[in-house]
Amino acid sequence: MTSVHFPSHHKRAPAIFFFFLAVLAVIHFLEGSVSLLQAGEPKTGFAYVVEKGDSLGEIALRYNVSVKEIKKWNKLKGDRIFEGQRLRIEAVSLRSYTVKSGDTLSEIALASNIPVSRLRDLNKISGDRIYTGQKLQLASDRKSIETPSVHVVQKGESLWDIAKKYDVSIAAIKERNHLKTEVIRPGMTLSLKDGPEENRTKEKTDEGDSERFEYKVRPGDNLSTIAERFDVAVSLLKQLNGLKENRIYPGQTLQLRPTSLDEAVHVVRSGETLSSIALKYRMNVSDIKRINEIEGSKIVVGQELRLKGTKPNVYIVERGDALWEVAQAYGMGVGELKRLNGLASDRIYPGQELQLGTAPARSFGTYTVKKGDYLGRIARLHQMSVADLKSMNNMKSALIHPGDQLKVKPFLQKGSEWLKISEINWDDLMGSSGGLRKITLGNGPYYGSRPKARRQSNRRYYESARLSLWNTYKRARKLQVALDRKISKMGRLSNCLNGWHIVIDPGHGGLDPGAVVANLDGNGDKVYVVEDEYVYDVALRVYVMLRLNGADVTLTLLSPNHLIRHSDPPVQTFVNEKNEVYNSRAFNRGNSRSHWPKGGRNGNLSRRIAIAENAFKHVPKNRRMFLSFHADIDHSAPNVPLVLYYRSRRTGRPDRASKRFAKSIQSFLGAGTVIRGQNLYVLRNSPANISVMLELRNLAYMDHAWALRFEELRQRDAEKVVRGVVEYVKKKG
Ligand SMILES: [Zn+2]
Repeated sequence: MTSVHFPSHHKRAPAIFFFFLAVLAVIHFLEGSVSLLQAGEPKTGFAYVVEKGDSLGEIALRYNVSVKEIKKWNKLKGDRIFEGQRLRIEAVSLRSYTVKSGDTLSEIALASNIPVSRLRDLNKISGDRIYTGQKLQLASDRKSIETPSVHVVQKGESLWDIAKKYDVSIAAIKERNHLKTEVIRPGMTLSLKDGPEENRTKEKTDEGDSERFEYKVRPGDNLSTIAERFDVAVSLLKQLNGLKENRIYPGQTLQLRPTSLDEAVHVVRSGETLSSIALKYRMNVSDIKRINEIEGSKIVVGQELRLKGTKPNVYIVERGDALWEVAQAYGMGVGELKRLNGLASDRIYPGQELQLGTAPARSFGTYTVKKGDYLGRIARLHQMSVADLKSMNNMKSALIHPGDQLKVKPFLQKGSEWLKISEINWDDLMGSSGGLRKITLGNGPYYGSRPKARRQSNRRYYESARLSLWNTYKRARKLQVALDRKISKMGRLSNCLNGWHIVIDPGHGGLDPGAVVANLDGNGDKVYVVEDEYVYDVALRVYVMLRLNGADVTLTLLSPNHLIRHSDPPVQTFVNEKNEVYNSRAFNRGNSRSHWPKGGRNGNLSRRIAIAENAFKHVPKNRRMFLSFHADIDHSAPNVPLVLYYRSRRTGRPDRASKRFAKSIQSFLGAGTVIRGQNLYVLRNSPANISVMLELRNLAYMDHAWALRFEELRQRDAEKVVRGVVEYVKKKG
């Protein structure tokens, strides 16, 4: 469990966060190849090794089970346990939470991702009062929240389709509806669960209507008013509810958002086989193989499997795709794509089917195969499935040779229309800087000095700074000034950010590397990804592009030996160098450990705020923006970017300007992006009008850690952020 990383900016992480991290980390473990059980033990549950100071009561609380249960599972007579003892935990409960001292209802709601109102309803609480030891029902799994009570059979639908859609068994539907056979007729109303119908229409989530999952049609409603109100396309509503025409009737329950089943993509996890995946989705192995053009039975961790075939001229949105990227990829205008699909805004959802028109001007990118490339790597680099790649190139086998030209999804194509990336001479920006010796390395360049290690070889490895704090700072400034000079000479992409001052805060650095996680290279060997080193690279790319659009930009941290770096090959991962300094003369005068940037409880995060205050000194309040970049591990969050704005823990009131910005940038970061209010130190104290923390990637997911290692994908992340900022400012006028 050592991989769990807590963001340094939580002033006090509520107990529920730890609970969820613990439970989800356990689940992660159970699903992974790492078995905590010794041979011979049955393959359920896991073994907990007792730590110093543990009591049975505490362990029971941690996993939300009773002391009695632990005693039963381990055949314990008394309450005595000892350090190092292995205790069997047969089950952990995710559906309830035991209140710990200091918890509040809103924290628990926030952490379990359900509205306070639902939490109150589920537990029959009217106010906010809860007590330590109280067991709260969370019912946080999809089934109980999202399965409607009834389903009206659509034309062409089989019982099997319905069972799959709602994740219930065919037998259960038959039983509840007293069906003797599996024959159903269109128009028939099937009951999906027992008991009285829950009234969901009263609920209001913290995000208002924008995140509601389903809606009961009222008299006078029509599909377009519902679509507009909930920020979805009419076509998506029809897709999700199997509607052939626009007619709806009062009382009908409409699904508003795609579920993971609608996404129809599965990312292979460690330990999974084709048949276990088929079982999970109630599909046939042969169908999965056909859709994905798999010949044998070999699948690899991180591989994306499609669960649904694609129709011609239809694009199925994947997590992280932004509308502007899809438009660009298929040579269409954003406006055209929106018109064609009846989109009211730029927001799209994973699994949403987008019509590309009758004859889309398909434009492809071209990728030249390099030595050591294999099809899986190229596919993942371009966020495609191997099947897509093969069919796009009419390939019969997976054999490729260096120099081969392959058609690819053009998301990462250079020379894209909008940012005119080709006009940015990245190589020139990486040229020799400030008179420091340039050291060319595959994962460089470095200036003056390079890390001793060629890659991050384990979780704990690090290299300390070689110079004093002051000399490190002087070097870092030299590099930064040289970069600034080069950017000034490049001209402008636009002037749309003129007058804005944006402070970019790479969330870790100095003594604090952030998350360090294991990832797998193409051969399945472990490589390690260091949050701070990678996020800094994205931050620098954003820095360059914001400046080229006219903004003044200040970084809170600087590195003394590198600027933007290549990742060639990506297996040479960036090494944890504890040598970044605060971008301030005043903060680098001393030379004790406490002067270096550090996070955690005794960190010095206030210096980031002081740097921002200084940068904003002469900037009008409504032209100040503060962006903090992270890629933390959060097992309880989905595998999409997360945008955090400040929300008071006491009153629940959000910082409205930042929330509006978060909503706006949400669509530009890609489908599925989540926004959330949270009480975080740097956001609470930021002197900017707009302050958000961007968790660009969630390192709890292998494909996200993987994506950070590739500079093309870091560039894609950076472009999304810049696009989001530019479009927000444009709209604001
Ligand atoms: Zn972080």
